[in-house]
Amino acid sequence: MKNNVTNKLRQHDAHALAKGYSPAIRAMDIGSIVSFVSLEALLVYQLWGNPHTGPWLLLSAVLLGYLAADFVSGFVHWLGDTWGSTTMPILGKAFIRPFREHHVDEKAITRHDFIETNGNNCAISIPVALGCVLMPHSSPSWVFLSSFLGSMIFWVMATNQFHKWSHMDEPGPVVAFLQRVHLVLPPAHHGIHHTAPYNKYYCITVGWLNKPLAMIAFFPTLERLVTWATGLLPRQDDIGTEAAAAVMESTAQGEAPVVQAAKALLESAEEPDSVSSARSST
Ligand SMILES: [Zn+2]
Ligand SMILES: [Zn+2]
Repeated sequence: MKNNVTNKLRQHDAHALAKGYSPAIRAMDIGSIVSFVSLEALLVYQLWGNPHTGPWLLLSAVLLGYLAADFVSGFVHWLGDTWGSTTMPILGKAFIRPFREHHVDEKAITRHDFIETNGNNCAISIPVALGCVLMPHSSPSWVFLSSFLGSMIFWVMATNQFHKWSHMDEPGPVVAFLQRVHLVLPPAHHGIHHTAPYNKYYCITVGWLNKPLAMIAFFPTLERLVTWATGLLPRQDDIGTEAAAAVMESTAQGEAPVVQAAKALLESAEEPDSVSSARSST
């Protein structure tokens, strides 16, 4: 299946995609980063002196926020990789283009500066940050919700930085250690996503959710639902119509890994029985 798809790949031109980073988008990135950091700072200030804040509440909010960010990173990455095109108004240039560029030139991200790397994720996090600072913070539940969401968007912001590190040849000893113990996205783990046809392991904060989501065929199932509802072909703009159709055909035939594992387990559980019944009948 892989060779079949690779022959059909039709991707965008890396040079043209790189040129799409216009001064207007850069200005938007700077505005997004400044607004996001200001809102997060205001939230920390609000929570600092709050009587309902405690160390266990904060610790669980930060950890759950990390897991949630991993999921959000996967979901947004899947959306960007699979649907839409670079020619769409506003969204195309600012949001879809970086996804296309990343598949044809995965090292380009290592040449992006702090603003280009982190602008987009700050932009999508601003509405959530605004919601957090406007919450009443009048009970432990409100404080937990606000800390959880505030932590989640902090990790969402950190995601492209972690992603960038996973593509660097020499990210430095501290980052390399964090990658080795899988506390941030490890390069080999993320390499699975960068294998054509780029249709799995979308989570790029830390990647802890990639295996479980693949086991339940989470993204292929969503793709079938979207195609059923809209008639759109997943990743048509990324890899071309022929390859996209070939991928869809092959995933439609397969079963979710968790179903395959359950069947294998049932078969192995039945085998001793059939052996013993065969023995008793002789
Ligand atoms: Zn991708
Ligand atoms: Zn990547």
